[in-house]
Amino acid sequence: MRRLSHYDYWSDSLKPSVLIDSRADVLVYGMGERPILQLAELFKNVNWHENIASVPQIAFLQNEPPAQNSDNVIFLHSFEKEKENKKFYGENFVTFEIESNKQIQKGLIQQYGERFLVVNPPFPPATTEEMDGMALFDVMMNKPHPKYAKRGDIPAFEMIKNSITIHRGCFGGCAFCAIAAHQGKTISSRSPESVLREVADLAKRDYFKGHISDLGAPSANMYMMGGNNKEACKRCPRPSCIFPNVCKNLNCNHAPLIALYRKAAAIKGVKHITIGSGIRYDMLLCADRNIAQQNHLDDYLREVITHHVSGRLKVAPEHTATHVLNKMRKPPFNNFLQFYAKFNDINRKIGKKQQLIPYFISSHPGCTLQDMRELSKITRKYRMMTEQVQDFTPTPMTYSTAMFYLGYDPYTGEKVYVAKSPSEKKAQNGCFFL
Ligand code: SF4
Repeated sequence: MRRLSHYDYWSDSLKPSVLIDSRADVLVYGMGERPILQLAELFKNVNWHENIASVPQIAFLQNEPPAQNSDNVIFLHSFEKEKENKKFYGENFVTFEIESNKQIQKGLIQQYGERFLVVNPPFPPATTEEMDGMALFDVMMNKPHPKYAKRGDIPAFEMIKNSITIHRGCFGGCAFCAIAAHQGKTISSRSPESVLREVADLAKRDYFKGHISDLGAPSANMYMMGGNNKEACKRCPRPSCIFPNVCKNLNCNHAPLIALYRKAAAIKGVKHITIGSGIRYDMLLCADRNIAQQNHLDDYLREVITHHVSGRLKVAPEHTATHVLNKMRKPPFNNFLQFYAKFNDINRKIGKKQQLIPYFISSHPGCTLQDMRELSKITRKYRMMTEQVQDFTPTPMTYSTAMFYLGYDPYTGEKVYVAKSPSEKKAQNGCFFL
């Protein structure tokens, strides 16, 4: 996420690529298995640096200026120009984001003084076969490092020890999230066989009591999904396949995921599976009954609410104000209300009293104190529990962070209000607790 120049919140400054400050030779970005394997091969040769340019998904520095006329690379504004004028950072961000949304990307070049940063394009999205090969559950110990043996419960391990990753990537495109810059927009899924073998393996571990805390990924319900026309997706620059509307090319059939949950639940030793990853509820609200049936949208929701919620389901409307949600690349709050109604309706039918816990963010670019007061009024009106709340913290290389730093939208140039000072942020965050 810091492979190019980026805004760093903690120092409130524009930083160069982390390669400059770290003085490392090579940076691997994204999901690193495949570039690391290629680099390991390359490092067997003492002259490895001569062939470094051939390795995808890495960044490195070179002294010679790259050829200007190649169709396969894009020259960004230099770091010095960005420091001189923020607008060049804004332009670089737009170029980077559009490029990183595509499956087939160009290399990016950025000059730092006398040197040139080269960011090679990533590997293509991993195939299911490759994903299965990278699921190393059967060769890993699945335990914390022995040096932590005396520490008792380790919170990070407690959280993941009973959860299983079923796919990578996210096509949601939320503006504040760095997953797309890291894992990519295209979904790479493990085969059901590979996931089920891991479930069976987990069920035999000595600490396992029968509860799988997640069969998930960055977003819970994107397993085996993607464009019907794969060629159209290869050069598609859209940041999201579901915002501002669900792309007509998107196959969001939930049947494979439902089948996976059922098969996993039937494995000996498994008593209960909950879905801890966030559910993209906006994908489940299609009004066209034919499309909804074809994609098993209601079936999925019923399945989750009936079998995979442990009393409380957490979802992320993030805000109530439409103009803030637009800046977040999130659907209107009305969609959440529709989902809320469906959730309550299904619970009534199955005789359960479960709660929906919404996540909200304060101080996101575009959000004023008045917007937060409105949010507070609306959530109280619907008696929503606003306990899952956070104040916006800019992460490097996201659209939200670019707006935070620039004070305007880098795509449109439109001015954007940003609550930056600690007192403004505190006042906004305090609205959750009115
Ligand atoms: S499904 Fe649609 S929005 Fe998503 S990558 Fe393919 S063409 Fe683009």
